[in-house]
Amino acid sequence: MKQSIRLGTLGGIPIGVNWSVLLILALIAWELATYVLPAQAGSATGADWIAGALGALALLISLLVHEVSHAVVAKRNDVRVRSITLFVFGGVTQLEGQAHTPGADFRIAAVGPATSVVLAGFFAATEAVVQRASVHGLAVATLSWLWGVNLVLAAFNLIPAAPLDGGRVLRAGLWRHSGDRNRASVIAARFGRGFGGALIAFGLLGLLYSGVVGLWFVLIGYFLYSGARAEEQFARASGAVESLRVIRVMNPRPLAVPRNTTVPDLVARYLWNYRGDALAVTDENGFLAGVVTAEAVMAVPAHRRSETRLVDIAVPLAAVPLARPDGPMGDLLERMMSHDGNPALVLDAENRLVGIVSIADIQRATTLVGGAPFWGTRHR
Ligand SMILES: [Zn+2]
Repeated sequence: MKQSIRLGTLGGIPIGVNWSVLLILALIAWELATYVLPAQAGSATGADWIAGALGALALLISLLVHEVSHAVVAKRNDVRVRSITLFVFGGVTQLEGQAHTPGADFRIAAVGPATSVVLAGFFAATEAVVQRASVHGLAVATLSWLWGVNLVLAAFNLIPAAPLDGGRVLRAGLWRHSGDRNRASVIAARFGRGFGGALIAFGLLGLLYSGVVGLWFVLIGYFLYSGARAEEQFARASGAVESLRVIRVMNPRPLAVPRNTTVPDLVARYLWNYRGDALAVTDENGFLAGVVTAEAVMAVPAHRRSETRLVDIAVPLAAVPLARPDGPMGDLLERMMSHDGNPALVLDAENRLVGIVSIADIQRATTLVGGAPFWGTRHR
């Protein structure tokens, strides 16, 4: 949730709004107030602006209710919810781990569009009541716009392209049919990439022929395309390494460095002979305190290196997945992904550090598994 504004928590789930939503809501309020509402209700401008702002706010709440419905059903199906972030055409409910069955996968996805349809029905019914009471035409016009938008949201989210809800529904169906979740994910993600790519192409054509509206499609297309690509990569890696033990994948010679070490000290004393992508940091008593990635070290600008200590760039222990060497790699990969891809520390039965698993280690293992037939298994 790096680019999002924290709104608060609901039932222990942090809720954020992507900055783009606020910009777009302001645009929607403006468009409602200056074009949509005057055309339908022909009223005064001051009232138009209030109705436009209320309409945009009701849309934000509709998006939130849609996402919360995913979260509630996920919790009921024993999948923990990490956070909810609202985007323009819905939002992202980040789950910790995955649905355990195709049925749960289907329910968690399908409830979102169903909720949007119910919301559309609610706004349409309210419109009918308001119309009968012959209240000001502005309220009718705003409600009429709201149910239309919720129906469009439901329809858009049902397109069978991951990461949209319809893509999840497709995945659940394929999963039930084949019994292979990762394969189903890859297919749903390919649909997502195709659809995202088509939206980008459509938006670029739009830019040529009808101006800035096209940019809108390019942005949504890019968002979908990159989300689908990440899902496909995750499903592929997961399919390759999930049958392995952590010990096969981990870096078995982990480095642990005191957290007060400065970056130049780290480089001079440790990094020249270290090939891992992540290292553990320890506190003053020698206890594990977190991890530092090579990426975080490289991101420190040259002029700030001498004043930067590892504690300043470390991921704290609370956000680091822990594993046992004989644990299943599939489970660890899931936990790493739900912790923003943070590296994992591998501890033995006495809780001594025996390994580190980074995303690069998983990529390496994925390549090794893919290359395995060249080393003899094919001829057996
Ligand atoms: Zn949804």
